[in-house]
Amino acid sequence: MADIIQLLPDHVANQIAAGEVVQRPASVVKELLENAIDAQAKTIKLIIKDAGKTLIQVIDDGKGMSVTDARLSFERHATSKIRKAEDLFDIHTKGFRGEALASIAAIAHVELKTKQELDDIGVQIKIEGSEVVSQEVIVTPKGTSVAVKNLFFNIPARRNFLKSNLVETRHIIDEFHRIALAHPSINFSLYHNGSEIFNLLESNYRQRIVNVFGGKTNEKLVPVNEDTEILKITGFVGKPEFAKKTRGEQFFFVNHRFIKSAYLNHAINSAFDGILRENTHASYFLYLEVDPKTIDINIHPTKTEIKFDDEHTLYALLRSAVKHSLGQFNIAPVLDFDHNKSMDTPYGFKDKDATNPNIEVDKDFNPFSDQKTTGNLSGSYKKEAIANWESLYVGLESKSNDLQNDFTEMQFERDEVTSKIFDEESSVKTQKTFQLHNKYIVNTIKSGMLIINQHRAHQRVLYEDFLQHITVKEAVSQQLLFPLILEFSNAEITVLQNLKEQLEQTGFVFSKLKDVVEITGVPVSVSEVNVSLVLEQLINDVENEVPNSNFSQTDLLAKSLAKSLAIKTGQRLTILEQENLVNRLFACKEASISPTNKPTFITMSVDDLDKKFM
Ligand code: ADP
Ligand code: MG
Repeated sequence: MADIIQLLPDHVANQIAAGEVVQRPASVVKELLENAIDAQAKTIKLIIKDAGKTLIQVIDDGKGMSVTDARLSFERHATSKIRKAEDLFDIHTKGFRGEALASIAAIAHVELKTKQELDDIGVQIKIEGSEVVSQEVIVTPKGTSVAVKNLFFNIPARRNFLKSNLVETRHIIDEFHRIALAHPSINFSLYHNGSEIFNLLESNYRQRIVNVFGGKTNEKLVPVNEDTEILKITGFVGKPEFAKKTRGEQFFFVNHRFIKSAYLNHAINSAFDGILRENTHASYFLYLEVDPKTIDINIHPTKTEIKFDDEHTLYALLRSAVKHSLGQFNIAPVLDFDHNKSMDTPYGFKDKDATNPNIEVDKDFNPFSDQKTTGNLSGSYKKEAIANWESLYVGLESKSNDLQNDFTEMQFERDEVTSKIFDEESSVKTQKTFQLHNKYIVNTIKSGMLIINQHRAHQRVLYEDFLQHITVKEAVSQQLLFPLILEFSNAEITVLQNLKEQLEQTGFVFSKLKDVVEITGVPVSVSEVNVSLVLEQLINDVENEVPNSNFSQTDLLAKSLAKSLAIKTGQRLTILEQENLVNRLFACKEASISPTNKPTFITMSVDDLDKKFM
């Protein structure tokens, strides 16, 4: 019988390995940055074009490679970092598998330039899809530059699978953050399409965190320090009052390597037990040092998960260290007596410098406000509640003509569709809507009743509004008397920059969108106190965008804004507000489903009811 086992040709094996190592441009960024760190660089520059799809280049001033090593570095399993099996149990470097460069060279055009300190000249090697196309001596400074161009040029399927530039850039910035935070003693810079996004100078941990996440971060950090025989912990946790609704800033580093660990994350959460508000997540930047012999970093190809010998002890130590710090800095649990959420100041604003009083008296005037049961709301809280509502009234007149048509089109399961579904008689004087559990709006209609989910219905209304504004470019914005200055990290600002045009079409006016965000106008449906939360949610949504979804930034933006601005379950509505919501819902193009495809209302006919009484 003929032999059927064959050895895979090298370039095929490399492409397969590449699939494990390189999922997206950010994976290349990670490998190249780690190599530069392993080469003891003091200054590392990362240059990106088109979210890394066109170019990813890392330039370091590390120890460089000899000509032979430069050539060898592209061979699979070529590594200078382990020599014998025992070395595997004592790893102090980032890489050790010797597959990164070989994998990257299999699926891209790579240009390597490198020179060792004592050599006069260096070498340049060009490789395309594992084939060496040229090798020359060159004059180049000490250190190494690796340029990776046209990633996945020979695997179109992978290239097509990449997400939008916005999302891929975000992944790159995440990797950059992780590495920069783990190595504050190294200078890091990042350039995207020619502009400088980060320039982080050598510093300590605290300063590095502040440089990455913005000036306001400093006051939010509580130091954590614990030194035991098996574990050394340094770093910071965020004060609970700054906890975010999104999980953004949570970092564990073990021996200077970023890791993910649901288990250790749980330890932190339990230390924060009772002092965080519902649905918020503490931020943390924790640096753990353990004996390399007690961990196994070899279990995951991209090395963000590691296995500890003694997880339980780590858990307990971590939890008590964080608890201790919180206690020491007088961060006592807040007693949460059934308080009314709507009374809370959004977190982003709690410790903001007091802004000058805003004297636009008429802007939020609401003729119906005296019917509200919100007499206990005061100041800006009241303003928030009312401003949310403006959108329910805005544009109602212009659309009311279509109302009739939409009603006629509405399909009931087995009802004679009449031209007017609301019961004529009852609409004259008696109340025809009421609110159930501050969640549903119940309406009498001719055939029976209509039950509307208020949150979803309002989402639909706002979503269509935003879409229309963005595409028709007719947004109205309310000018703020004093510009609003918001702190975001550079990475978050990049997300906003990418969406700037669409955001402006919804009514946002940015006077600055670099380093800080300065806003001078907001959409009519957004109240000033809400802006920070709305943008935070938007950034989060962009980051969590699902793979392969029909990604349209406009759509995503409209959905995100609608989601954060829609009246919530639990919010009490006046009769007028209820009626307005109903009218606006049925003026929508697709009244029956929310922007995320869930039903906005159901109907129940008198027949249905009758049956229940049989
Ligand atoms: P690993 O990092 O796992 O050893 P890589 O494929 O990433 O494998 O790199 C292969 C080898 O090339 C490294 O072991 C190192 O000797 C060398 N090398 C890669 N990048 C650099 C760099 N920036 N400076 C110096 N040497 C490098
Ligand atoms: Mg490596």
